Amino acid sequence: MRDLTQLEFDQHHLWHPYTNVTKPGPTFVVKEAEGVHLTLDDGTRLIDAMSSWWCMMHGHRHPEITRAMHDQLDRLPHVMFGGLTHDPAVDLGRKLLEITPDTLTRIFYCDSGSVSVEVAMKMAVQYQHALGHPGRSEFATVRSGYHGDTWKAMSVCDPDTGMHHLFQGALSVQHFVPRPPAVLGQDWPEDPSANGLAELRRTLETGQHKIAALILEPVVQGTGGMYFYHPEYLNQARRICDELGILLIFDEIATGFGRTGELFATSFCNVEPDIICLGKGLTGGHISFACTMTNDRVAKGVGGGNPGIFMHGPTYMANPLACAAAKAALDVLTAQDWRTRVADIAAQMATELAPARDLENVADVRVLGGIGVIEMKYRVSADDAHARAKDMGVFLRPFGKNIYTMPPFITTPDELGQITAGMLRLAREL
Ligand SMILES: *Cc1c(COP(=O)(O)O)cnc(C)c1O
Repeated sequence: MRDLTQLEFDQHHLWHPYTNVTKPGPTFVVKEAEGVHLTLDDGTRLIDAMSSWWCMMHGHRHPEITRAMHDQLDRLPHVMFGGLTHDPAVDLGRKLLEITPDTLTRIFYCDSGSVSVEVAMKMAVQYQHALGHPGRSEFATVRSGYHGDTWKAMSVCDPDTGMHHLFQGALSVQHFVPRPPAVLGQDWPEDPSANGLAELRRTLETGQHKIAALILEPVVQGTGGMYFYHPEYLNQARRICDELGILLIFDEIATGFGRTGELFATSFCNVEPDIICLGKGLTGGHISFACTMTNDRVAKGVGGGNPGIFMHGPTYMANPLACAAAKAALDVLTAQDWRTRVADIAAQMATELAPARDLENVADVRVLGGIGVIEMKYRVSADDAHARAKDMGVFLRPFGKNIYTMPPFITTPDELGQITAGMLRLAREL
């Protein structure tokens, strides 16, 4: 067998996310990263405009986060969480309680966003079971959602973009309503048929005795299309759920930790969910980690039922190294004036992306906090974007119809200008 270069080996043997392993697309080899920059094997430095899939909020290799990880690595990289606990888990827990919605007091640590969604859904089912509703084991959600790639999480992803037809028979059937039609920043349409609530109420009422919970990404639907919707939808959804005994789950894996301009998208509304999922930015992108938090009502419900124990416990639950990274990342977040930073990023993106509105192929341009989106009228190829964006010194990987950025919060105005110029070029050329 001849010697393969690193890239050749990769292209022959390694699967990448959502790719055909027999037809590999253009792939860059990253040698190192620091701050907003990725350094490739040919020496090129690219701004990571994706924050490495939305999690590297404070930049790569952040000195305070890596220091906390080094310290933890030298002491206790891992220990099982059954019957044992440790400072990193407790310290992170204290910090989470400080910054998350007040009613969410019970924390389940897990490995990734998708798992935190699985945990949330299991919690809802066990809660309903404990209350004497074993038939309530299904879920309701809106279209264009995304909640992860594991089976149960996938069942509440958008049926079209999540390719439910492909997995027919293997996926649980859930209850879908159209995506929330009322747009953030516009007046709330009171008419329930215009604001989407008539449809939501009908679905929840019809399925009442089968539905354990309604799961939503609050205000921002991420991977399912980068749509921003009116927070009043969430206030009203809370009311309907309460009336019908249905739990409300907010998946804040993408929206948490300041990305939307609020610490959590939940802050846009006047209500709190029963269960919240956090991930992605939790460790500032330094190591995989997530958590599911719930209120006393659900915790006591599950605990008071039969068997009382919550039926989940990952091997690497509350991994100390990940907890230490997360605690440091949250300290970095709250020690800075993140609100002003994100507002400045939003204002600059709004100005610099506006010219895309005049392009014939562009359907919409929208910005919320640290999220900037050029929605095209057709699907664009992520592979075709790579080389063009590289020429501009930027790493961009469009998804579906959207050319978008979620820049690290430390991105300077010059660097952000480079990102938006790259996005405009892609909108013109793709
Ligand atoms: C990314 C994401 C997930 C899945 O998280 P993973 O860590 O990739 O498993 C779930 N929900 C939302 C809203 C996400 O953006």
